[in-house]
Amino acid sequence: MLLELKDVHVHYGKIEALKGVSLQVDEGEIVSLIGGNGAGKTTTLKTISGLRSCSSGSVFFEGADIGSMPGHRRVLAGIGQAPEGRGIFPGMSVHENLLMGAYARKDDHSKELAEAYELFPRLAERRSQAAGTMSGGEQQMLAIGRALLSKPKVLLLDEPSMGLAPMLVQQIFSIIEEINRRGTTILLVEQNAQQALRLAHRAYVLETGRIVRSAPASELLDDPQVRAAYLGGD
Ligand code: ATP
Repeated sequence: MLLELKDVHVHYGKIEALKGVSLQVDEGEIVSLIGGNGAGKTTTLKTISGLRSCSSGSVFFEGADIGSMPGHRRVLAGIGQAPEGRGIFPGMSVHENLLMGAYARKDDHSKELAEAYELFPRLAERRSQAAGTMSGGEQQMLAIGRALLSKPKVLLLDEPSMGLAPMLVQQIFSIIEEINRRGTTILLVEQNAQQALRLAHRAYVLETGRIVRSAPASELLDDPQVRAAYLGGD
């Protein structure tokens, strides 16, 4: 097992955002985390990347408890994240943004840089452009490309399809699939549950801070309750 959360509780002041979340991600998988607004999806990713700490419970990565490991060490250990809202550096060029993804590495990152440009040819065309002047879709590509520069073992993706035109959504999802095919494990948070379940091997449903379902993604796609709550019914 690559990643495991065990009975994780996270608070924002008095608000308990995660109320005992347990989940597992195996090497090579795409695992989706779906759920409504405020369910705790982003908080779960932040807890894994080290941006939030647990009030109780544990986070294991490759069998080691990383609960007290600072975020930059988690990046080095192999946990990469493309955050919600993209978090790119708007004044820096596309190329500089990509290189920021490798800032913590001491080894050669030329292979990952070439791979990011190969997966996202649009970034190669715009390598000198200021990132802040790019379209929403291009910024999303940049956020994912930058995360790849840290050579992650697991890539945490927060709402990669948010705000994108339908054609671009398809494109981003097929690139995510390709990244997985090339060997990176993926934990995907999505409001677009239909797409997320189509892509994933397994999925978890989060409701108000608790995991309420966990199953192969295809099973959840066919589940009447999940369909009614997250897939627009029918
Ligand atoms: P969305 O899809 O709307 O982004 P989410 O499933 O990602 O939702 P989270 O952002 O993890 O949910 O939020 C979980 C809960 O924690 C929500 O009730 C939210 O209001 C609360 N919360 C999140 N961030 C903070 C914060 N910085 N301060 C206080 N409460 C917060």
